[in-house]
Amino acid sequence: MSTSTQPEKHTFQAEVQQLLDIVIHSLYTDHEIFVRELVSNASDALEKLRHIQLTEKEIFDDRLPLEINITTDDTAKTITIQDFGVGMTHDELVTNLGTIAHSGSKAFLQALRESGGKGENLIGQFGVGFYSAFMVAKRVRVFARSWKKDESGWCWTSEGAGSYEIEAAEGQRRGCKIVVELRDEGKEFAGADRVKSILRRYSSFVQFPINLNGEKVNTVQALWMRNKNEIKDEEYTEFYKFTANAFDEPRYRLHFNADAPIAINALLFTPKENPERLGFGRIDPGVALHCRKILIDHQPKGLLPDWLRFLKGVVDSEDLPLNISRETMQDSSLVQKLNRLLTRRFLKFLEEEAEKRPDGYTEFFRQFGFFIKEGAATDFQHREQLTRLLRFESNLTEKGALTSLSDYLSRARENQEEIYYLSGPNRESIESGPYLEAFRARNLEVLYLFEPIDEFVMNNLQDFEGKRFASADQSDLKLEDLGSPQGEALSEDETRDLCLWLRDTLGDRVAEVAPGKRLVESPALVLNADKMMTPTMRRMMKNMTPDFDDTVRVNLEINPRHNLVRKIAALRGKNEPLAKLAAEQIFDNALISAGLLDDPRRIVDRVHKILEAAMD
Ligand code: ADP
Ligand code: MG
Repeated sequence: MSTSTQPEKHTFQAEVQQLLDIVIHSLYTDHEIFVRELVSNASDALEKLRHIQLTEKEIFDDRLPLEINITTDDTAKTITIQDFGVGMTHDELVTNLGTIAHSGSKAFLQALRESGGKGENLIGQFGVGFYSAFMVAKRVRVFARSWKKDESGWCWTSEGAGSYEIEAAEGQRRGCKIVVELRDEGKEFAGADRVKSILRRYSSFVQFPINLNGEKVNTVQALWMRNKNEIKDEEYTEFYKFTANAFDEPRYRLHFNADAPIAINALLFTPKENPERLGFGRIDPGVALHCRKILIDHQPKGLLPDWLRFLKGVVDSEDLPLNISRETMQDSSLVQKLNRLLTRRFLKFLEEEAEKRPDGYTEFFRQFGFFIKEGAATDFQHREQLTRLLRFESNLTEKGALTSLSDYLSRARENQEEIYYLSGPNRESIESGPYLEAFRARNLEVLYLFEPIDEFVMNNLQDFEGKRFASADQSDLKLEDLGSPQGEALSEDETRDLCLWLRDTLGDRVAEVAPGKRLVESPALVLNADKMMTPTMRRMMKNMTPDFDDTVRVNLEINPRHNLVRKIAALRGKNEPLAKLAAEQIFDNALISAGLLDDPRRIVDRVHKILEAAMD
């Protein structure tokens, strides 16, 4: 290799070096994944070139076949992977191989931080892309020549320790040639048989010929176009891992085709786990669009609704024009038709799964329920189907078990007009709160909402099969009379008097004070006067806007049968100041139970005074 200039030395971005150190020193034993990573990069580069060929006339080395050539040399202990794809310019080498560009590596590093630095088992879960070569290499050289006419060839070299070098390299063909010089522990990958067996396992999904030492090893085939009766489970799983660049097994798989209204072959997967739940931020859509086996776009905009971004796989439609540009795709009526068809089909699939294998669906919902909720709240077209797919805990389910809305209605009384729900961070806090007792006493089912998005969903949906969704802490709910309550109670007049006095005493923190039918065991409870401003909503608003006006206006319901309430009524004539203190404390207690008390400090002082009075 003749070089015309001095090599220039670069240091890796700190994050890359951190990644490399882990890769090199980890005890992760499944070293062969580096072959898969480098072949998948070669395939990406060829895919990109095929697109460029559709629009650009001037392409360097334009007659080269779109293929991947792999050679092994067991004397020199090297494996070389060459593709005639897009290649890289000098600057692309620096950004693509010297910084963390790739989302998989970012996810890896984040998971690493969260796991407290145990990298080994994570490598297998995420894949570390190009850098995986350093698991087996003592030195990696990348010879690159961009497809752009006016560029020239370069050689990127690194031993994985802190730095890399770039120097000019003449006589390069278009694309990349990656020469991996193996360490002793990795010398098996210089053996043709070993490499052949690795390539056999998954390279059949690579849409370009792969030659090993001059001999073709794969028959290019598009799994999604084949008859599903002839496809083995393992083939599907390997395909999923290949297309989604995934390391887990798929949770669900849906393979179908149709001729009308559009010709379509689709193979869709859901991953086992939801990466957004693990905290990796919003995931990118993962269903690629093909036309007659040729990739049009691997992240087409508008092919699926946003809330289906967790799906992986391939859609192929021969009705699509091959030269459709990525920009106009989203507006294409064909893509919109595909979108409707795919969405409906997938939702139907979920409904069938929920029906036939409810436990599996519950597991799915635990992972991906967020997306179903997001859809139910935002996708008007599919709202009905999505609502049927929602699941919640309730006071009638076991902890951790979920119910559908249809099941809820099947248990509801005939004349029940509302579907009740309560929000709270978890089951325990809802059940120890003040609102459930009234519903329990009347044998009514209340759904438990644990996530902030749940209330948003309820507000957007409004009803299900004609029954309105109603938060059980709203003041305008009509609950059936439980008949004459047990025990002594204040008379109607006494109650009215006490309510008026409380209104004055508590000032403008309460909107209304009234006797309540809901209360069984508590002296008082507060009800939301402002429907939209639920406790969850308030918390969210306060987090987003620090100067959010958070004065709560609530209605206070008192229990005329409760001992404390009766005693306060009696105390008013004898010791007005103490009656006031007690009334304020009961009110604050009710706010605490409702999750609405923001400044508990005022309580301390008051409780001291009450204690003093009690001891006198
Ligand atoms: P990813 O493939 O997920 O982007 P990698 O770490 O495998 O991450 O590769 C990093 C980047 O290096 C790629 O995004 C690509 O831009 C570039 N690259 C790697 N291999 C090749 C290749 N054979 N031809 C062209 N570019 C490549
Ligand atoms: Mg890659």
